[in-house]
Amino acid sequence: MAIHETATLTAATLNPDTPWQGRRYFPISQYFRRHFGGRTAKISISIAESCPNRSANSQLEPCIFCDEWGSAAYHLEKDRELLDQIRFNKELVTRRRKSQHYLVYFQSYTNTLDKVKILRQRFETALSEPYVEGLVVGTRPDCLPERILPLLDEMSQRTYVLMEIGAQSFFNDQLEFLKRGHSAESNIEAILKLKQRTGVDIGVHLIFGMPSDSPQRLIETALIINQLPVSNVKLHNLHVLENTTLAEMYRNNTFQPDELNAYADKVILFLRHLSPTVAVQRLAAVASRWDELIAPKWTGQKMQPIEYIENKMRQAGYLQGDCYDPQRQPAMTIPALISNALQQPSSSN
Ligand code: SF4
Repeated sequence: MAIHETATLTAATLNPDTPWQGRRYFPISQYFRRHFGGRTAKISISIAESCPNRSANSQLEPCIFCDEWGSAAYHLEKDRELLDQIRFNKELVTRRRKSQHYLVYFQSYTNTLDKVKILRQRFETALSEPYVEGLVVGTRPDCLPERILPLLDEMSQRTYVLMEIGAQSFFNDQLEFLKRGHSAESNIEAILKLKQRTGVDIGVHLIFGMPSDSPQRLIETALIINQLPVSNVKLHNLHVLENTTLAEMYRNNTFQPDELNAYADKVILFLRHLSPTVAVQRLAAVASRWDELIAPKWTGQKMQPIEYIENKMRQAGYLQGDCYDPQRQPAMTIPALISNALQQPSSSN
């Protein structure tokens, strides 16, 4: 059974009065528990060294929110050998919380740009550790070249593989604001291509907190996700780190990050329209390098934003998916692309 189907079963078999064991949304911990049978932890490593925006011959600028470490959680270890990083970070993860199952998370920069031979070596190295039961690979939608699809498919037949796609938004003006260098259409094409050509599980990263956010757009984003073969989402609030374009914008008063209450309202509106079968990895960003965080300060408090958002849902009696209507279609033209692509036969299933 594919993991996407596992998630559907999970939601369908839950008691509607106590969904997700008292949680107001479907947390990824419960999704993984259903799949692996116990607590599952991601071991983050930093091995990729660049991305299309930062490569030497790129015409692009870095994304406005990105610091020089390219989203790495453990940037100081990037010069260590992969196996050393896995072993070292497994100890760190285990010290925080005991888990029965481990996935290696290729997190920093873009992890599908290197040659197939190198990618294969990295994946094999990660899987050579006896406690590693799968791979999580962070990448961009425009960095899934034909040459790596057979490798991803092969890996997904051997082990659990979750591809985390940095979509960030399904609105092109927002992607331009973020200086992402890819389009909303490329987000959808990447997701559908992975679904059709490989057996990987698919997660999507989204950023809320841009000046052009609106209730309609948040609902529309949920409706688009509901149409896609995506098993989970990871939500980030746009926050300001030192040495980023956003820091300059913040200092010259052209950008103000959302306060927690405003951000919570956005997340809640999105979650209420999101299918209850889509798991949620994270409700808000967690600043890995606190000394670099400029604003908002609430981003530096790891658990408080999650508790705040969930309490707000609880007090209002809201749940993920309580406004979900499986018949409701997104309004924008992208759905035409979705349905056309979904009608094409899949080569892997
Ligand atoms: S967010 Fe990702 S794609 Fe953008 S500049 Fe940073 S590492 Fe590159």
